[in-house]
Amino acid sequence: MNEDYRKIQLIMTLRNQGIRDTRILSALERIPRELFVPEPFAEQAYADQSLPIECGQTISQPYVVAFMTQKLELDDRCKVLEVGTGSGYQAAILSLLCRRVYTIERYRTLLRQADARFSKLGLTNITSMVGDGAKGWPQQAPFDRIMVTAAAPTVPPVLAEQLKEDGGIMILPLDTAPQEQELVRITRNGDDFEHESLLPVRFVPLVEGTAREL
Ligand code: SAH
Repeated sequence: MNEDYRKIQLIMTLRNQGIRDTRILSALERIPRELFVPEPFAEQAYADQSLPIECGQTISQPYVVAFMTQKLELDDRCKVLEVGTGSGYQAAILSLLCRRVYTIERYRTLLRQADARFSKLGLTNITSMVGDGAKGWPQQAPFDRIMVTAAAPTVPPVLAEQLKEDGGIMILPLDTAPQEQELVRITRNGDDFEHESLLPVRFVPLVEGTAREL
C-alpha cells in the first residue's frame, strides 16, 4: 500500500467520524505526517494512532488533532497559541488555518526538530520558543485561540488571562481522575469562562518549567 492511498483512507475515516470541515481535511492532506514521526514509525504515519517521539513524548492521534482543531473554530484572522509543540504536527495543521501560530515547547531537542520541519515545508507563519507553556507568551497576548496539548489538573490561570476577552476559545485536556482526562473547551466572554467537556483523551502531562536535560 502506498502512502497517498493510506492518507486518503485516513481522511475518509476521519470524515466518517464527524470531521466535516473541508479546510481541516485538506490541511491533513497537505501536511506529510511521516515527516513528523521517527523513522522507524514512518510506516504507521497514516494509521489513526498516537506514536512515540523523542524525549519520551508523543505525537497525537490524527483524529484527536482534527477534532481539537475543529472545536477551535478557526478563521484565517486568528492568532493562536499552542502549548506543547512536540513534533510540530499540530502546529503545522493550525498554520494552514489561521494567521499566525505561536508554539511553546519545554524540550529544546523537540523544538529544534519541529522548527526544521516548519522550514522544510515553508510554514513561515509559525513562531516557536523553548519555555514553560503554562506561563503563556505575554508579549504576544491576547490570543484568539489557545490549544494545550499536554494535560493539567486545572486550567493554568495565566493562559486563561491571555485568552481574548470577547469570544476567545481555549481547548485543553484536564485530569479528572488518576489515568483519566477529558478534553475541555473554554469560551471566554469578559470575566465569564464557559466550560464544556468534549471527549475522554490520553495526553502526556503538562510539566512545570523548561526541561533541564536536552
Ligand atoms: N502537539 C504535539 C503533541 C506533543 S505531546 C504534536 O503535534 O506532536 C505534548 C508536548 O508538550 C510534549 O512535547 C511535552 O514536552 C510538552 N510540554 C509538557 N509540558 C509543557 C510545558 N509546561 N510547556 C511547554 N511544553 C510542555
